[in-house]
Amino acid sequence: MVSSKVFFGSINHGKIAQFASLANKLDVIIDRLDFSTLTKKDKVAVKLHLGFTDGAQTIPPFYVRRVVKRIKDTGAYPYLTDNPSAVYNAAERGYTQETCGCPIIPISGIKELYGYETEINYRNVDKMNMAGVLHDSDALVNLSHVKSQNNVGYAAALKNLGVGGYNGDARFSKIHGIFNTVPAWDSSKCTPEHALKLAESCPYGCIRYDKGRHSLSLSRGQCYNTNCMECIKADDNVGSLKMEAEGFETFQEIIAIGTKKILERYDKDKIFHINFLMDMTPTCDCMGVVQPQIIPDIGVVGSRDIVAVEQASIDLIGKEELLVDKVPPYFKHLNPDKKLHPFERLYGKLKSPYNATKYAEKHGLGTRNYELIEILPPSETINMKATHVYERGPSFA
Ligand code: SF4
Repeated sequence: MVSSKVFFGSINHGKIAQFASLANKLDVIIDRLDFSTLTKKDKVAVKLHLGFTDGAQTIPPFYVRRVVKRIKDTGAYPYLTDNPSAVYNAAERGYTQETCGCPIIPISGIKELYGYETEINYRNVDKMNMAGVLHDSDALVNLSHVKSQNNVGYAAALKNLGVGGYNGDARFSKIHGIFNTVPAWDSSKCTPEHALKLAESCPYGCIRYDKGRHSLSLSRGQCYNTNCMECIKADDNVGSLKMEAEGFETFQEIIAIGTKKILERYDKDKIFHINFLMDMTPTCDCMGVVQPQIIPDIGVVGSRDIVAVEQASIDLIGKEELLVDKVPPYFKHLNPDKKLHPFERLYGKLKSPYNATKYAEKHGLGTRNYELIEILPPSETINMKATHVYERGPSFA
């Protein structure tokens, strides 16, 4: 069976020494990914999320700078890129040309008008505007902060491209509207009184009923599905409401399709994916607030295969315990089953993180079979001679 290599650097170390630290492991992961396939003067888009207002739990400039330096060492021209708002105030969160080592440019122009119409042909979405910077670059380094996420349960490399790689009109209405293409409610089975009962049954306000139009909408983005099911209980004996996988998985599938269109813009040897499993939060970097960390730090994984790097990330998180005492109280239906993936415990089985790679593999983006190669594991570095000289006095003395 074909498998892809995924290089893993653990946050854990075997010695207090620079060679054993995550910073050095990132350097070695880059060695193993082999940036030498970049050529002089290649224009390299480093796509990452730069956060939003106070949402600063993104990839620290310290690591970003290291990646940028290694790209520059090849003679290529890197630049960081993200949506215009995130770029405009990136300095508030520590990202500047001085700190990161390269320019920071808006992915789709200052008014989100720099984009290219791209065929999507999925459900009601025929076309979306691919962000111009990703369309026009020669190479791509996909740097992703891994976290949980309310729409899809898990977000990292695929969502960084499949949502973050498209202009505002596609991101906000087409991609986020895709849930609505699968009906959840049968109006013919439901009286207005029963519909109002359904709306009132949801503790999260996900169900809205318009009596004048006899129209009920379900906001899947905020729904905790199998962890909750209060509305389905309220619908007992009527059966007008459906809580099924198809409606929830549309979001992951459009991400896979959108990502594929972006990756097709590049030669295969010009694409690199690096996921940071650090400071993992319950939801998006774009929320604009500091959030609690709900999974212990794990480290960094890198691969040339986007499906493999995502599968390895999801599996590594699956081995960790959810930090239950850090889960915010507005998760009213946290699943107590410790055998579930921690992100399913947060958002329900219909938002399983494994849907991300299921659809990415289905659309031919790579393979879920991977070989995890740990770089400088603690069991190895504990036996290595430490050469690091750490601070013992004033630096400028
Ligand atoms: S499953 Fe729960 S969260 Fe989802 S719509 Fe029903 S009541 Fe609301």
